Amino acid sequence: MAKILCVLYDNPVDGYPNSYPRDDLPKLERYPNGQTLPTPSAIDFTPGALLGCVSGELGLRKFLEARGHTFVVTSDKDGTNSVFDRELADAEIVISQPFWPAYLTAERIARAPKLKLAITAGIGSDHVDLQAAMDRKITVAEVTYCNSISVSEHVMMMILSLVRNYIPSYQQVIAGGWNIADCVSRSYDLEGMQVGTVAAGRIGLAVLRRLKPFDVGLHYTDRHRLSAEVERELNLTFHPNVEDMIKICDVVTINCPLHPETENLFDEAMIGRMKRGAYLVNTARGKICNRDAVARALESGQLAGYAGDVWFPQPAPRDHPWRTMPHHGMTPHTSGSSLSAQTRYAAGTREILECWFDGRPIREEYLIVDGGHLAGAGAHSYSAGDATRGSDEAARFRN
Ligand code: NDP
Repeated sequence: MAKILCVLYDNPVDGYPNSYPRDDLPKLERYPNGQTLPTPSAIDFTPGALLGCVSGELGLRKFLEARGHTFVVTSDKDGTNSVFDRELADAEIVISQPFWPAYLTAERIARAPKLKLAITAGIGSDHVDLQAAMDRKITVAEVTYCNSISVSEHVMMMILSLVRNYIPSYQQVIAGGWNIADCVSRSYDLEGMQVGTVAAGRIGLAVLRRLKPFDVGLHYTDRHRLSAEVERELNLTFHPNVEDMIKICDVVTINCPLHPETENLFDEAMIGRMKRGAYLVNTARGKICNRDAVARALESGQLAGYAGDVWFPQPAPRDHPWRTMPHHGMTPHTSGSSLSAQTRYAAGTREILECWFDGRPIREEYLIVDGGHLAGAGAHSYSAGDATRGSDEAARFRN
């Protein structure tokens, strides 16, 4: 029997909810590219329940304990004395989420001799040292597509809220004010702007589709080009590299995974090539943007706004400059963890576990690393190497 160690974010401050604002979720059959939603044999939770926090347990306890496994759930993940660090020694499977990542560095992997499977309950497995996982032949899998549309909706919200100056205008109301001039002196229309995405995978393409009715110029860059049919349908301009695209864009949205090729991609020099007053929206991964270069660009006016929900490390230390820099629209890492998305990634995690225990292959599209190599979605979208360096700093949040 296996020990499964699951790291989830903390419960709500006021305790686990016993009611929700809505009674049901829309029923989806397939993702936009035709891929089926997760297909576990059963689920032991109510769709729409809060599953991603410690008490939600991804709805997995009954299923795992009925099969005789040990299931440990904790939010205490950072530092050498954390529950995660202590329990890792004899864990066979680790489940973690990008929102509250249990960083599986090479050192931790070395201290987990029984570890065979690392599941990301979500998308983006950069919190695992993928090189170390390959070297140890640990399988890494994620629930591909489970929250891609959730994120694309968040990107739309952030682009509009930056360009229209929504957050400061909302704050006027809360503060009892009515100074229209203060609200609109940074407010523009999105219409007619040039908007570009770094990567046109599941999220990037969904963002392009959602932007189309706003009558903007649409641009993208990616390692693989979209079909001519899609380019025509959305009237897209393809750029062979990021530099080429960003110099003409008013808004740039980042939708590629974090891997050695994309780490620190938006450094001082890259941001310096953008149009003065451009907006940058990053819901991909914090480390793709240089922390201090972003803050400086907002202060100097090189960027008119920056928004996103991804930080490095997570949780972000309380003195992280992105909490206090001007003209930002940051949230904690929430875009992919709506109640709708939680239902899908909890079911997808169960599907992966059922396959693992029953000796059936995990879907190709869920695989990131398998048999010592990048595999499935990982082989398509990642490059080999490690992007976890510096993650120890996450321990500072609790201090
Ligand atoms: P996909 O795998 O569908 O798309 C990723 C795309 O990035 C692929 O088209 C890939 O290209 C492209 N890409 C990879 N490297 C580069 C590069 N160096 N330059 C340009 N393009 C590149 O994944 P999703 O769209 O579903 O998710 C993308 C990322 O978004 C995730 O990896 C994760 O980091 C983040 N994410 C964030 C969430 C949140 O809650 N904020 C939730 C979900 C995801 P190709 O495959 O053509 O080689």
